[in-house]
Parts: sequence; C-alpha cells; structure tokens
Amino acid sequence: MRIFRLLFPALIPVLHLSAQSTFNAAAVEKTIRFLAADEMKGRTVYSPEIDKAADFIAASFKKSGLQPLQGNSFLQPFVVYSAAFRGLTARVDQKDVSKDNVIVITGEPELEVTEKSGYAISAIPAGSSLFREASTTVNNGKNNIVLVDESFASDFKRLVFFKRNFFKRAGSTVFILGKPALQTYTIKASHLITEHKLANVAGLLPGTSRKDEYVIFSAHYDHIGIGKPVNGDSIYNGANDDASGTTAVIMLADHFAALKNNERSIIFVAFTAEESGGFGSQYFSRQLDPSKIAAMLNIEMIGTDSKWGKNSAYITGFGKSSLGTILQQNLSGTGFEFHPDPYPDQNLFYRSDNATLAKLGVPAHTISTSKMDNEPHYHQPSDAVETLDLANMTEIIRSIGISAHSIIAGKDTPSRVKEE
Ligand SMILES: [Zn+2]
Repeated sequence: MRIFRLLFPALIPVLHLSAQSTFNAAAVEKTIRFLAADEMKGRTVYSPEIDKAADFIAASFKKSGLQPLQGNSFLQPFVVYSAAFRGLTARVDQKDVSKDNVIVITGEPELEVTEKSGYAISAIPAGSSLFREASTTVNNGKNNIVLVDESFASDFKRLVFFKRNFFKRAGSTVFILGKPALQTYTIKASHLITEHKLANVAGLLPGTSRKDEYVIFSAHYDHIGIGKPVNGDSIYNGANDDASGTTAVIMLADHFAALKNNERSIIFVAFTAEESGGFGSQYFSRQLDPSKIAAMLNIEMIGTDSKWGKNSAYITGFGKSSLGTILQQNLSGTGFEFHPDPYPDQNLFYRSDNATLAKLGVPAHTISTSKMDNEPHYHQPSDAVETLDLANMTEIIRSIGISAHSIIAGKDTPSRVKEE
C-alpha cells in the first residue's frame, strides 16, 4: 500500500462521495483511469501491477466503509499452481511412444504410471468435444488414462492448456493419442511445479435485518497484460474488460454503504484470474453457502454502448431465473432497459464469473453491453478509456443500483437457476 501511494500519488481518486453524488461521471472516470492506466500494464496475474490494482480496490472499499468479507483484510488470498514440462518417457505395450503423443497433467513433480498404478482408463472418441471431455476428466479428482482418438491429432498438443493454472490436484491424468492395448505400460513424467499467489478483493456491507442472506456485486479486475504490439502499443489496458465492471462495483459499494439501509447483506467482490480460467470466482464461490445467496449481479464490459444504444444493457441467461425480470421491473419508467442476452449461441452465461454459482443454483447472471459480434477493441491494446462512453457507463451503474433495490430490501427474491 505504501509503495503504491509513493508510485501513484497523483492518481488516487478521492472518494468523499455521498449517496447522491456517487454515480457521477467524474468519479467513474477517476476510478477507471487509475485501473486502466498504462502504469498498470494490463493488470495481468502474477504481476506487481495487479497487486497495486487490488490495493486500490481494497482502499476504495475501506474508504466507503465496507468490512472485509473475511478476517482483517479485504484481500482474499489463495494459491494456484502451474506445471512446466521437464521430460517424459513412455513405453506402452513394449514400444517406445513419442513424447508428442503423450500429455501428462499432474501436480506431482515426478510421476510414474504403470499398469499396476490403478489408473482408470477411458476414451475420447471421434466426434466428441475434446476440451469439454478432457476438462471433465482432468478435474474429476481421480487418476486417469485417457485414449484420445487420432482424429484429434492436430488439437492434441493443446491439452497442455491444463498445465497452465490449476488448484491443488487430487489426481493425475495421462492423455495418449491413439488406441494402444495398454497391456503393459510405464510412463514417467517430470514437471517443475510452481505455486502462485493470487487474491480477490472482497468487502461486506452487513444487512440490517437479513444478515444471512446475500446479494453479490462482482467483476473481474485482472486483464491480459503486455502483449503483441498493435500500432506501436503493447499495453492491453482492459478498460472495458473489465476495469469498467470493477469501477461499477467500487461505485455501487460506495452508494450502498452511504445509504446503509440494506436489509440483506451485500458482498462486493473484484475477482482475479478471470482471463486465465476463472480461478478467482471459483475460489470465492466455494467459500460461500450457495443457499444463502439471493442473487449475484456480475458486471462485465459496460463501457461501450450496447447494440440497442445508450441506456440499455443485457443480462446473460435471462430466462434461467427471474432475476432479470425483477431488475427490469425496478427500472420501469426510468428510460433504462435491460434486455435478454442477444448472443445465446455464444454461451456467455457459462463463460463469465457468474458461472460457478449459477451451476450451484444461485440466480447469478452477468450484465454487459459488449457487442460480441462487433467490439473491435476486445482483447486489443486499444481497449483504453478513450474508447469508452463514460457518461453512458455512469448511467448503467446507477441503473444497476436502482434495479437491485427490491432484492437488497428483501422484497423480491429471484427464483433459483436449475442446478447442473
Ligand atoms: Zn472480461
């Protein structure tokens, strides 16, 4: 904290805001300009800059008067691991197998698997969804050997994706390209396992009467960092994705903390590691009892005008609970409109930080304005504050606050999402 104050003395927004003045464009602009500044270098995981972003969000929550969600710190730390390949030998049915045709996903630095190891053997047949099947198996907590059909030969090497980031693994998975008989085998794999520290930022505003019922406002504060230069710019600022949503969470926290009349408890959370697999929201979601969460409003990319123009946004998975309908009703007469997600084929409902809790039945949806078929700055260095409509974004944040009032007051309770 002290270091970041020395480094960015001029950039710290002063958030002495009353309930009435919270949702003003100047405060929105100060906040998003800090998060999306070039100095933040794209807020990528494992960088010193993302820690500065986390400290900034925590300081904002504190200034607004939130309590830490857990313990004494607004930071919610956790660890993930990555595995760097060091070497592999595989002898299967008395033949040496090329290391290009075997991929081992493990948290063990040294792993040896033989026919006596008791690994469960399964197959991914032609025509199935390689990554969905592989992901289910890798995460089933068991030891697995998976025979991958040769029709997936060109995509096979992409299974190394599962080495990149993972929570502590209970089991190991060996992918083999082809259909060997597997009467005898010895597969030895060596990896350098590295532990990485990550942190969400989470604050609480305890409810006045229904403390054990929670409404969550969330967004992810990480982005993708420094990358391939485009027109001489290599900093992927992530102003829209998702400094805009993070700004909204900070503003909403200040608004509801100033009002201090929330019957239900409200959690405000900024997630890390969305861009590298949603690890922040997965970790956060597992710390809570889903049955106590009345609603989650995840906010993802609200800085550009939606396909319907200003004063509108969409809600992913609209029909999966009554949350969207309630939010719409609370906005009637305001001139602001929420629409159902117009890109259902993109499966956005399960692609953002609401997904973990939604799968557990929570009415957890994402609010966005992003034109998924036409958003030229998406994951480009040009996703900078200058490309955003901050006045409209301010109205969206205000409207999100208005739309959630009846739920926060305990007057409305959205129906649950059907569990997967
Ligand atoms: Zn995003």
